[in-house]
Amino acid sequence: MTITTINYKLLPFCLCKSDPSIDTTTMSNVATKVAVVGGGISGAVCASTLAKNGISVTLFESARGPGGRMSQRREISEDGKELLFDHGAPFFSASNSDVLRLVHEWESKGLVEEWKENCGSFDCISKKFLDIEQEAPNKKYVGIPGMNSICKALCNETGVESKFGVSIGRLECLDDEKWSLTGLDGQNLGRFSGVVVSDKGIASPRFTDVTGRPPPLDLSLTPELALKLQDIPVSPCFALMLAFSEPLSSISVKGFSFKNSEILSWSHCDSSKPGRSTASERWVLHSTANYARGIIAQTGLQKPSSATLTKVAEELFQEFQSIGLNIPRPFFMKAHRWLGKCFPNCEHSEGAEMSLG
Ligand SMILES: Cc1cc2nc3c(=O)[nH]c(=O)nc-3n(C[C@H](O)[C@H](O)[C@H](O)COP(=O)(O)OP(=O)(O)OC[C@H]3O[C@@H](n4cnc5c(N)ncnc54)[C@H](O)[C@@H]3O)c2cc1C
Repeated sequence: MTITTINYKLLPFCLCKSDPSIDTTTMSNVATKVAVVGGGISGAVCASTLAKNGISVTLFESARGPGGRMSQRREISEDGKELLFDHGAPFFSASNSDVLRLVHEWESKGLVEEWKENCGSFDCISKKFLDIEQEAPNKKYVGIPGMNSICKALCNETGVESKFGVSIGRLECLDDEKWSLTGLDGQNLGRFSGVVVSDKGIASPRFTDVTGRPPPLDLSLTPELALKLQDIPVSPCFALMLAFSEPLSSISVKGFSFKNSEILSWSHCDSSKPGRSTASERWVLHSTANYARGIIAQTGLQKPSSATLTKVAEELFQEFQSIGLNIPRPFFMKAHRWLGKCFPNCEHSEGAEMSLG
């Protein structure tokens, strides 16, 4: 899986009245107070880069903490055990030298480490593991102690004021060349000379499907940007978090994609990553986008009910059990829905690697 270039993906679209296509290198000439919408990896890297360039940055994130689709989920089992899962992106790799420089900086600060386990694929027809990598072309990195560690650190950097639990409900360009931001709850969030948005939902009808409100940004005045946003595909996915008391000894790799499964696309052993507790063996499975689309077609885009999530959890787990690997019943099992998993040009490569280069 590839995030094509750092400029394309890690630096989201910038809104600046004087030049709508402006990037962060030139932005410092015109925008001194910038709002960044989204505390996922692209918003967090962007906020930190702007702050390092002397720009005053306020980052707004609707979730309670940073990470977005590079989040870590905390669950408690019935008997009170704390269970942590990277239920979004499982790992990332990098080949671009600019990105590698950034990754090495994070590595030197202890925010990321290499995940040295082998990955492969499993053919559900022949019931065999295939393509087990002995040496991956690019190193696989994971956040320490969770995938969200990078975003957490970047959102806390000097010069970045981060506001969590704040959803942007309206973005308006005023006559004085400033952007006015309003929360979904109607709160006035201030005026900014530039805005960087890291989620295409800000201008998409999907926002209305989820919230019942018009999208925060009216794109009718910038048709070019509207076209560019259309090109970014969004593929839904269900993630299933599983915890077992014993290691799954029949599985010889710690991460694998599924071939010839309509339901599952990827699976990895989360507790095999560095910096994680090994008190239980935790796996995360990802559904195929088609399976997720089918469920969403029946249930809609609103938050899925617990009945839906239970049904999905059972279906994904049954598929996992049916592949002939002698999988026991876990002591913890929970599904999570992601409305958007993919990014440009990788519609069908779920679960492979997050390549930031
Ligand atoms: C299950 C899963 C597996 C994946 N696997 C891989 C993989 O193997 N390899 C890979 O490269 N990538 C993978 N990805 C994709 C990768 O995680 C994303 O491409 C990347 O994390 C996106 O980062 P982002 O910052 O662009 O967006 P996000 O992480 O989605 O961040 C956007 C943020 O904006 C916030 N936001 C949105 N609207 C508002 C608003 N109105 N107000 C305030 N905040 C708002 C959201 O809450 C969110 O936190 C996976 C994703 C998922 C879900």
